Amino acid sequence: TTTTHATSEHPTDWSALVRTEPHPSPASDEKRTQALRAPAFGTCFTDHMVLVDWTRDAGWTDPRLVPLGPLPLHPAAAVLHYGQEVFEGLKVYRHPDGRLVAFRPDRNAVRLRRSARRLALPEVPEGLFHAAVDALVAADHAWVPSGPGDSLYLRPFVVASEAFLGVRAADAALFGVIASPAGAYFHAGVDGISLWLSTTYSRAGRGGTGAAKCGGNYAASLVAQQEAAEHGCAQVLFTDAETGRWVEEAGSMNLFAVLADGTLVTPPTTGTILEGVTRDSVLRLAADLGYATQERPFGVDEWTRLAASGELTEVFATGTAAVITPVVRLVSADAVVETPTVGFGPVARRLHAELTGMQFGTVPDRFGWLR
Ligand code: PMP
Repeated sequence: TTTTHATSEHPTDWSALVRTEPHPSPASDEKRTQALRAPAFGTCFTDHMVLVDWTRDAGWTDPRLVPLGPLPLHPAAAVLHYGQEVFEGLKVYRHPDGRLVAFRPDRNAVRLRRSARRLALPEVPEGLFHAAVDALVAADHAWVPSGPGDSLYLRPFVVASEAFLGVRAADAALFGVIASPAGAYFHAGVDGISLWLSTTYSRAGRGGTGAAKCGGNYAASLVAQQEAAEHGCAQVLFTDAETGRWVEEAGSMNLFAVLADGTLVTPPTTGTILEGVTRDSVLRLAADLGYATQERPFGVDEWTRLAASGELTEVFATGTAAVITPVVRLVSADAVVETPTVGFGPVARRLHAELTGMQFGTVPDRFGWLR
């Protein structure tokens, strides 16, 4: 068992500390090949997982790569009762030269720390985060698909594991990373998604957990998502909790509007929306390609008005799972606002091509985004 209290004077080489306990009977080549043929998101998992224990006294201990399996959690574990949990989502891609690359995992490591702070969970040191990801990808490299648009989705998470029913920050936690092959989100013929403007439910309020990637946010969004589905929409559009006038985000994606002059508009990250890695990448890429970008409040009324006048040309949502997804309409109880462009407009298409090109290794990584 390795104990560490890493300090900046004594940085820990986490990758050297990961203990490896290989799976005694990993999936056969045949079973794996079958699973990689048309991976349905989040249903199939690789042979291994990484686990690391934390206690307030000992810090992070015993990083280990072990066969994937159930977690030994006491039924009183705080995560099961009070939802003290945070997670991340990132992808690993297979390049034409055979290299396996993760897209901006440093951003996920930083965001996991920030989320953990908000949930009073221990922060996973960045070196430990990367060592865990590297160890899992190295062990399960054969699980990274090679089909067009396919990737290996990684799910790091931190859960409060202390068996204690009092309401306070847990003194024990578990950091884990699991992996699941993911297929291309888009298939030919998909025009884009419809969004349901929920006036019943909010996702986040001032001082809440909107900017954290914590399980509770997602649990609270499910009924709004069901409401969206009942209205024939793929995702729910959340607006600010106070006035309901300002666009925040769409389901588990950030939102962009493109104006007729090519300007990209996206809501600012003022604490109630998740700071998406794809959002940040699109902003930087767009600026690099010469588009004007604005992070500013964007109202539902402005959306409606600009779509009617033709000043708004495209709307799209961004996230790790779907990269860039066109939004074809906004549906509310009393109105339907059609986006003038159905499917990928020129701006979304260009950004999508650049971003996926970098991820899949056909466009040079000019920002140093690949690990
Ligand atoms: N908003 C929410 C609520 C999300 O869950 C996600 C997915 N992590 C995003 C936005 C998009 O973030 P990213 O681009 O980092 O996947």
